[in-house]
Amino acid sequence: MKFPSHMKKILISLVLAAASVTHGAEARPLVIAHRGASGYLPEHTLPAKALAYGLGADFLEQDIVLTKDDVPVVLHDIFLDTVTDVAKRFPDKKRSDGRFYALDLTLVELKQLRVTERFIAKTGQPVFAKRFPAGQAEFHISTLEEELQFIQGLNHSTGRTVGIYPEIKQPKWHREQGHDISTIVLPILARYGYATKSDACYLQCFELEEVKRIRDDLGWQGRMVMLIEGKAKGEDGTDHSALCTPVGLKELAKVVDGIGPAITRVVTWPTVGEAKLTGLVKAAHEAGLVVHPYTIRVDELPKNCPSAEALHAALFREAGIDGVFTDFTDVTRAWLANRK
Ligand code: CA
Repeated sequence: MKFPSHMKKILISLVLAAASVTHGAEARPLVIAHRGASGYLPEHTLPAKALAYGLGADFLEQDIVLTKDDVPVVLHDIFLDTVTDVAKRFPDKKRSDGRFYALDLTLVELKQLRVTERFIAKTGQPVFAKRFPAGQAEFHISTLEEELQFIQGLNHSTGRTVGIYPEIKQPKWHREQGHDISTIVLPILARYGYATKSDACYLQCFELEEVKRIRDDLGWQGRMVMLIEGKAKGEDGTDHSALCTPVGLKELAKVVDGIGPAITRVVTWPTVGEAKLTGLVKAAHEAGLVVHPYTIRVDELPKNCPSAEALHAALFREAGIDGVFTDFTDVTRAWLANRK
């Protein structure tokens, strides 16, 4: 078929526009909804994901743990007692350390729990006083597959491509308990179309040995981010401070595409109003890594940081990060839209 040249130009611009829709989320700093719109609704519930989606997130985060029958579910902790009514519903499931573990309940049992805003298990007091009221409305835990279907359904009905940002939680602990979480999660991601670096997915983990294993032994070909704690050493033995050195970052770049450091690894406020960069973002960029720090919380700012505006300015304008985990997708989206 032959087209006149002006038609060709229009067609080319349409193709380019379509491409920028598909990859637009990657071309600008990424807004990653931390546990969904967790500033407004109980974390990791589907309503929290739907709200973050509607508020304009580029990626929605999933934390993943296993049930007793090896079903990956979306839950931040290996524990259930700070976001559900497990203590009331299954008092016999308490371990000798006083905690309730997702790994001790089957999926059928876990589905009977009601999820609520995060609280302190001992006192029952909410962690964030101004967030969604405790015990109000009904929320449940989702499996990883349920959440992927939910997000892909929204992508279908809106025509957008919002990505996923799954985290393998405590793989070393899971294996010590006799469950190999990564080998269960990776095939599910692949089955839903998340397998290569061009798919809208970043896999993340705090444990260096597992990150290497996922890449080298389990054959993960998609993008991956090494999470970096604010404290020096992880429970699994990962030396997070060593990872932040030029040598550490260069080594990391052989395995992962980016790092997800605690905000304090990027910027601190020695006194009120005075932001001090650590130099990590520059060093990571020199190693070829993207940087997605965690977590923007407008109701819990870093020490001495005077405002949410100052926090966003320090991270995006001064440090030059490539994306951020935020509990408040709308606040971060608005800051990026209005920035000079
Ligand atoms: Ca996480």
